Amino acid sequence: MRCLLGLSLALAALIAPPPSSGQDAPYDLVIRQARIVDGTGNPWFFGDVAVRGDRIAVLGSIPAGRAKREIDAQGLVVAPGFIDMHSHSDRLLLEDGHAQSKIRQGVTTEVLGEGNSAGPYQGELDPPTYTVNGRDRTWTTLGGYFAALDDAKMSVNVVSYVGLDNVWQSVMGKSFARPTAAQFDQMKALIDEAMRDGAAGLSTMLMMPPGSLATTDELVELAKVVGRHGGLFSSHIRNEGTGVLDSVKEIIAIGERAGVPVDIIHVKIADQQFWGRMHEIVALVEAARSRGVDVQTNVYPYTRGNNNLVTIIPPWAHEGGTASLLARLKDPATRERLKREIRDGLPGWYNHYTAVGGDWSRMLISGKGRYEGLTMDRVLALRSQGKPSPPEPLEALFDILIEENGSVPTVYAHHTEPDMNLALSQPWCSIGSDGSAYAIEGPLRRGNPHPRNFGTFPRVLGVYVRETKLLRLEDAVRKMTSLNASKLGLFDRGVIRPNAFADLTIFDPERVIDKSTYTEPFADNEGIEYVVVNGTVVLDRGRHTDAMPGRVLRHGR
Ligand SMILES: [Zn+2]
Repeated sequence: MRCLLGLSLALAALIAPPPSSGQDAPYDLVIRQARIVDGTGNPWFFGDVAVRGDRIAVLGSIPAGRAKREIDAQGLVVAPGFIDMHSHSDRLLLEDGHAQSKIRQGVTTEVLGEGNSAGPYQGELDPPTYTVNGRDRTWTTLGGYFAALDDAKMSVNVVSYVGLDNVWQSVMGKSFARPTAAQFDQMKALIDEAMRDGAAGLSTMLMMPPGSLATTDELVELAKVVGRHGGLFSSHIRNEGTGVLDSVKEIIAIGERAGVPVDIIHVKIADQQFWGRMHEIVALVEAARSRGVDVQTNVYPYTRGNNNLVTIIPPWAHEGGTASLLARLKDPATRERLKREIRDGLPGWYNHYTAVGGDWSRMLISGKGRYEGLTMDRVLALRSQGKPSPPEPLEALFDILIEENGSVPTVYAHHTEPDMNLALSQPWCSIGSDGSAYAIEGPLRRGNPHPRNFGTFPRVLGVYVRETKLLRLEDAVRKMTSLNASKLGLFDRGVIRPNAFADLTIFDPERVIDKSTYTEPFADNEGIEYVVVNGTVVLDRGRHTDAMPGRVLRHGR
């Protein structure tokens, strides 16, 4: 017995690791003496975070010399990596997987999809060609997009919904006809296929066709398909202006009747006639939640939205696609009808023109082109120069749309700080930028994009936590991390705890701030120091390391 004990002690001495350092260390990374904001909303606490491989290994006090790399985080906050609940980076991630403007905000997971998603493209909807690391590539399913991302590599993780517009147009093409029973079954089959490919749920944009063609009853039936897979129904609602309360009721009804969780995308009051009424949306959501309907919302911390000048054209005029729309815009009699409807509105239609009181100075051209960075009042003045009688503004709008082939991305100043703040401070309202992964330099420095593409998350921390104190730091972090993770069923992300994935953002709470503005959008934030994705450092003291550790996070796998 004594002999055996002696032998095992001797063996133990042989196998025991030497005092650890360098390549033999048990941890790949230790973040030392940070203020840990763990994503749950709990108050911050001091501690070290040790990472092994792609996971958080240990929290607590970790002895020196136990890691291949240490980050001294004294004075800094370590939080779970931010999950951008509403992103449009689908194409840009394939052009450049660095995801510069997102990584530099501390974003580690992008959630893609609104009316459109990067698949499916089937039947009546031709697949577009995407540029993937300089090469052309195409696919017909959302799973095909996920495979392209896997091959291309990216710095951020990616989640995607399947977008209703893709599904609808795959079956119905550009027609505004009602779907037959067989066609409707095809739509359900396409959603089912995308869910099996790993979509997080169904996302919809009900303001304009084709999404606006779907009735509430149809949306309930389509949402049930998502429900069978444990997915989420996410919606840019039908009307964010004078119809906003009815539209919120519609989304709640869809969640209630289909038995699925619903998330209202970028909740807002986007018509000056309804400003000051966010409390009525809050009351609707609270009442629904208290009777057991899982309805939540997300918001971006700005009071201007990004859409397109073409949405000033009433929905009916879009039937048949862009070529048909442009033909209508060229017809003098149709122009007279359009002008009447734009000025007076149409029942149920969210009208960007009346939403801003017909004030052209509240429309800023954000897309790439000759008018980028100019407000529409200046564009109209430019076009009037040297003309004896200036063209009527709506006539000029039609001309511009014809010249620009039917698309002019535009920022609309249509909602208010008090309404946005009231939404932002609700416990069920999380953060989504509605932006894309652009860059300050290179090919993705493009157009005059909305500052939310660069500044959303630092803005929440700098303006709404530190400056106005609307939010506690821990609540703000929760809205960017675990709240979004739990909506998506990503229960091993969005929190700092042992065995969760090591997606981490380290920032200076005293300095963090957005610098991007409407007129000078291409500006780096301050105070986001380090970003770790799946255990790999992607932002290192503000420098992108070129690492591409991001993964497609397929729902249910
Ligand atoms: Zn939207």
